[in-house]
Amino acid sequence: MSQRKGKPRPASGKKAGRDARKDAAGRVHLTVLRDPASGHERVALRSPVFREAWQNDIAAAAANTAYAALRGEPSVDGAVELARDAMAATSRLAAGLLARAPDGAVACRAGCDHCCHQSVGVTPPEALAIAGHLRSTLSDAELARVAQHVSGCHDRTRSLPSAERFSPDHPCPFLRSGRCSIYEVRPLSCRGMNSLDAGECATRLRDPEARAAFLARGVGGRSFMEPIRGVHAISAGLQLSLSELFRLDMRPLELTAAMHLLLNGPDSLADAWIRGERPFESARSAGDATDPGLGELIAAVGLAPGREP
Ligand code: SF4
Repeated sequence: MSQRKGKPRPASGKKAGRDARKDAAGRVHLTVLRDPASGHERVALRSPVFREAWQNDIAAAAANTAYAALRGEPSVDGAVELARDAMAATSRLAAGLLARAPDGAVACRAGCDHCCHQSVGVTPPEALAIAGHLRSTLSDAELARVAQHVSGCHDRTRSLPSAERFSPDHPCPFLRSGRCSIYEVRPLSCRGMNSLDAGECATRLRDPEARAAFLARGVGGRSFMEPIRGVHAISAGLQLSLSELFRLDMRPLELTAAMHLLLNGPDSLADAWIRGERPFESARSAGDATDPGLGELIAAVGLAPGREP
């Protein structure tokens, strides 16, 4: 991917905070504060975006990391590196929080794939990181097979609402023999997912009556929520920083649709995105996935589908 000039560098100091982009509701979440003595800048939340203070601290830290990584000349490569760093940090955070769960409470085990049968949300930098990973690790023939498989999955799911994506008939295109084939670069939203009852996961996915009842309730299954909330805090910080301070379109995309575009579409998509254009419009997420707590994230960052970044 080529280095491209990005949008104008955000101004420094308090003025930069005032220049941050508003969301559709007229809110500005971030401000950039500058120490007049040292010139050091830091990003701060203008007001809490989550109910829990620790989530706001994590969101602010993620926003600061993103600001430091991209300030000056935002580039596709820089955004991909940021996404990879965020993925690693998210896994460390989720692992630390999962370790606080009571012994044996979390039921997730390698090879358990029930939660990989639903619509998955992903931001453009994450999708670009996944595409880059595939291109750098697969042969041309393997990459062509993956692109074709993703395209087939996209054809079967593109017209379905998220509720119908939650089905044993629609596994994630990257699920192979019960395991994630892109584990190293799996989306942030996959990293905090957990369940307190694997039997419940199996039943609600594979039993049609239980699945219908689960979807009708509109709430997630029983999970240890702290890792999920931690993931949402990191994701919120990234989304707010890139959206408000760098004018990049960070509205959530649907994983299969986004990867179909990146693996089968023109090579110019990434460059268009870093210029502030909206090349992923057709891959926008429907936003009603079964991810527990997703509503909290959407409400916090104001980047819900259908809303302006
Ligand atoms: S990306 Fe990997 S972990 Fe996430 S839903 Fe797909 S197979 Fe599962």
